[in-house]
Amino acid sequence: MIDKYNRTIDYMRLSVTDRCNLRCKYCMPESGVSKKLHREILRHEELVEIVKAGAQVGIKKIRLTGGEPLIRKNIVELVKEISNVEGINEVTMTTNGLLLKNYLNDLKEAGLTRINLSLDTLKSDRYKSITRGGNIEDVLSCIPLILAAGLSPLKINVVLIGGFNEDEISDFVELTRHQNIEVRFIELMPIGEASRWTNDKFVSNQKVLEVVELIKIDKTHPSSPAEYYKLKDGVGKVGLINPISCSFCVDCNRIRVTSDGKVKPCLHSDQEIELMKALRNHEDIVKILRVAITSKPKEHLINDKEYKPITRDMNRIGG
Ligand code: SAM
Ligand code: SF4
Repeated sequence: MIDKYNRTIDYMRLSVTDRCNLRCKYCMPESGVSKKLHREILRHEELVEIVKAGAQVGIKKIRLTGGEPLIRKNIVELVKEISNVEGINEVTMTTNGLLLKNYLNDLKEAGLTRINLSLDTLKSDRYKSITRGGNIEDVLSCIPLILAAGLSPLKINVVLIGGFNEDEISDFVELTRHQNIEVRFIELMPIGEASRWTNDKFVSNQKVLEVVELIKIDKTHPSSPAEYYKLKDGVGKVGLINPISCSFCVDCNRIRVTSDGKVKPCLHSDQEIELMKALRNHEDIVKILRVAITSKPKEHLINDKEYKPITRDMNRIGG
């Protein structure tokens, strides 16, 4: 479907849970996370129904996210059913990777086309610290497995955090020299937990270009939020994602559905459209998705003086 600003909206980020097996410091509070009741979270059949309605309004690509999508029961079956929905030609997933080894082959067989792996450091002690307890070996060991499975390019999301991982920029870029990996540096967004962090934690992506010599290359997809670069002799790519500037609002092609059944037309706005009550009727879901697409703002307002950071933590939105 085309929105008011002539953008084709064909991408849905579908959060399948707000729960997580990690507690990344910028994403979730350490404790006191209120657990949603089972009935407050979209059921398996409802998720599939939402995708079917999405396909009807022109959605072609689904990204499953969370929370941690791999802790959702029957996730492989869900991928299979969603992949089989007519009109959906790409099903991808953003994951912290901790459980990926157990599911990789089944997910591929079920129709998963690509994976975005979140990894903010290559050092074990730092990983344990930023994730509040994660074991980096669980993530690193699945990188060759993902490549061998042909789920490529593998995208590795690195949130740049001042005083934490700036000194690892070149190590991350090095991963792209010989392998079909896209390392994507993402600027920390003032959302939920991170909105309470001090300014010195926010590092501009320009830092990457200062540290390593990269060649600019064309985007593969116009609505990709990343500007792409590569090493002179690199096989893979380096993406710089700057969500704070409005530079990619003009090409924004997505809507988000949270695991508690709200449609978010824009990540950086508190506007949410209730979907739960529409779930019994397919046409009602279609209507709500159309309303959400129609109400997509021209651009986010993060840079406005009056802007107030949104209150939902990222695990409850779906990154
Ligand atoms: N648990 C999965 C994972 O970590 O990949 C999926 C959900 S997580 C919310 C999705 C992505 O959002 C991760 O790459 C994470 O680093 C990113 N993220 C979370 N909070 C963020 C923030 N404040 N700014 C930028 N990225 C953030
Ligand atoms: Fe969990 Fe992903 Fe948030 Fe980390 S970034 S706490 S892995 S949802």
